Amino acid sequence: MSTWHDYFKEQGHAPDWPYPIRFDQEQEIDADVLVIGGGIAGCWAAISAARQGLNVVLAEKGDTVRSGAGGPGCDHWCDVPANPLSNVDPDEWARHMAERPYCNGIGLQIQCRENYDTLLELEQMGGKVRDSGDEYVGAQGRDEKTKFMISPRYTKVHSYVPVDEKTEGKIFASNPEGKLNNVVIRVWGSTFKPVLKKECQRLGVKIFDRVMMTSLLTENGAQGARVVGATGLNSRTGEFMIFKSKSTILATSGAGSIWLISTELGGYCNMMSRTIAGDGTAMAWKAGAELTTMESTGIVRIAVGYKHKWYTGAGDASYENVPIVDANGKRVPFPIQGWVDAGYMVPSPEVEQAVREGILKGEYALPFYGDFPAMPEVERNATWKLMLGEESTTKVITKTFNDAGYDPSRDLLQSYRYIEGNSLAQWREASYGGGILVDWDLKTSLEGLYAAGTQMFSPEDHSYAAATGRYAGRKAAAYARQVGEPQISREQAVLEKARVYAPVKRSSGMEWKELHAGIARAMQYYCSEFKTESLLNMGLGTLRKIEEESVPLLFALDPHKLMRSLEDLSLLTYAQIVTHASLARKASSIPLNFQRIDYPALDPPEWRKYLTLKLENGKVKAGELPLAFWGDMKNQYEARNKDYTGVYKGK
Ligand SMILES: Cc1cc2nc3c(=O)[nH]c(=O)nc-3n(C[C@H](O)[C@H](O)[C@H](O)COP(=O)(O)OP(=O)(O)OC[C@H]3O[C@@H](n4cnc5c(N)ncnc54)[C@H](O)[C@@H]3O)c2cc1C
Repeated sequence: MSTWHDYFKEQGHAPDWPYPIRFDQEQEIDADVLVIGGGIAGCWAAISAARQGLNVVLAEKGDTVRSGAGGPGCDHWCDVPANPLSNVDPDEWARHMAERPYCNGIGLQIQCRENYDTLLELEQMGGKVRDSGDEYVGAQGRDEKTKFMISPRYTKVHSYVPVDEKTEGKIFASNPEGKLNNVVIRVWGSTFKPVLKKECQRLGVKIFDRVMMTSLLTENGAQGARVVGATGLNSRTGEFMIFKSKSTILATSGAGSIWLISTELGGYCNMMSRTIAGDGTAMAWKAGAELTTMESTGIVRIAVGYKHKWYTGAGDASYENVPIVDANGKRVPFPIQGWVDAGYMVPSPEVEQAVREGILKGEYALPFYGDFPAMPEVERNATWKLMLGEESTTKVITKTFNDAGYDPSRDLLQSYRYIEGNSLAQWREASYGGGILVDWDLKTSLEGLYAAGTQMFSPEDHSYAAATGRYAGRKAAAYARQVGEPQISREQAVLEKARVYAPVKRSSGMEWKELHAGIARAMQYYCSEFKTESLLNMGLGTLRKIEEESVPLLFALDPHKLMRSLEDLSLLTYAQIVTHASLARKASSIPLNFQRIDYPALDPPEWRKYLTLKLENGKVKAGELPLAFWGDMKNQYEARNKDYTGVYKGK
């Protein structure tokens, strides 16, 4: 049986629900450390907590073996300055990375100090991180001794555009001759997720797959109190799960498609995984945790069925060093990422603009093509097979092309840059900056609650998620060892149970897709590219109306649709938080992608700060933190990790 069409033709009716339904039934689970979300950060958190001999439970909405944005793969292990081929000092690189306004300096320091250790541990588990089979001998960046393959990404310089000045490149004190920095390693990331799950199992982590977590439980059910557990829903049986935990780590990543839904045309699709629906952020918010940078959103970067996948050929991510030619075979001045002009992942606005003008003047003919045949064979293979094969969803692209007879040694690959254009400005995504605020232990503002990976504010990449997950697991385990037994509030669990099951108590009304579309439309209209006080207030009013009038109509006929419905409720909460945050920032900002028509001044000095939001007694409370509120990164890190034994010891 291959398609729904085949099934209906043979059976003549829809299939019965294939699992026993256990709506309203309960299961109670005890944990020392509960990890919510079994993606990259979650798996690492569970492994590092379990290595300390604690009772660790991991709850994952999908199947841990491939779930999350990193599930299908990863081709770059980024910002690993502690690797033996690196020419820069890890602490200096971390400081450099943290020059970007509104980043997360705490996570970056942890990444730069610990992600090489994380990579070596991954290798011990069975992850492939070196060219051990000598497949790419002769490729640039391949080191014969270690068999590591350095990526051309960020090899020479890495420049950012800070708030008020433009830095062009950078020579590091630790690399005064300006040698290649060698801070990114090419890896075989499709091997990672299965070995992470296996390691969790080997260490005795109790994994609950297909469980969507829905809320955090707090001491006495009070907002702002210590977190003592969480609730979940089994998306196959519909069973209600109550977890009691001494410490809890949130690792569910950020939010999904708040501004856009396209289930029929191209699948629900944004930059991250389908399961990511803002659940973790919404549950932390309701429990009273502090969030920050929630006003930062940007144009949706990927597909959604309306455009090609975001990779447009050379100059983009995994196509890092493919030369680009125009329709007449003339070389276009891309990429900026390859060995020659290493830099950021996509061409700079200046290069983009120059090429655009060249097109308009007739200097370059469209469409453009990735000139794979012009590459030396080993480089071509390193890009087509290793990078695009391992990266994640690009595997689908290479497989489709290979199956159709595409041969990179002979054929050009069409680029979609310029012939496709950008997404509409009101098709936005939230995964640009907002998230949970953490301290140097990756503890949130709530006792007993930790966060890791892209769940935290200012999210980064795979190795960042891995290193911070591993770190949060260590810290949450240390806390669990010294804290008293958790007591959950039965009343709080009962209230949550009623919320969770409300849609299955109805058999008609509004289904999840319609509700999602309504939320998306409200956000497109009132909290989009241009913002004003009155538009944003209209947005809050519309979202409130949806909450009061549409949510009570929501119905779900099976546990899967119930999960989708609950995701909508997370998206709704998330949308409200973004709108509140947008109201709180009364200035426009380039690095935050934030434009207030009524406050047009760009990044005025008094607004260069993090804005924080939390719920206190049900009311939204705003606060602020200075840029670089984390202090001296090296000293702060070392003060808290005196007993850490890693390859890099610092200077
Ligand atoms: C196409 C693509 C290519 C990429 N390539 C690279 C690369 O080459 N290098 C790189 O460094 N980074 C890459 N990234 C980014 C990288 O994958 C992410 O940064 C990383 O996966 C983030 O890890 P995470 O643990 O924070 O989130 P995820 O790995 O996405 O994990 C979040 C997990 O939480 C689960 N979850 C969500 N809600 C709930 C809930 N309510 N209850 C229980 N579980 C829940 C999800 O199912 C998921 O498994 C890529 C991402 C994409 C999408």
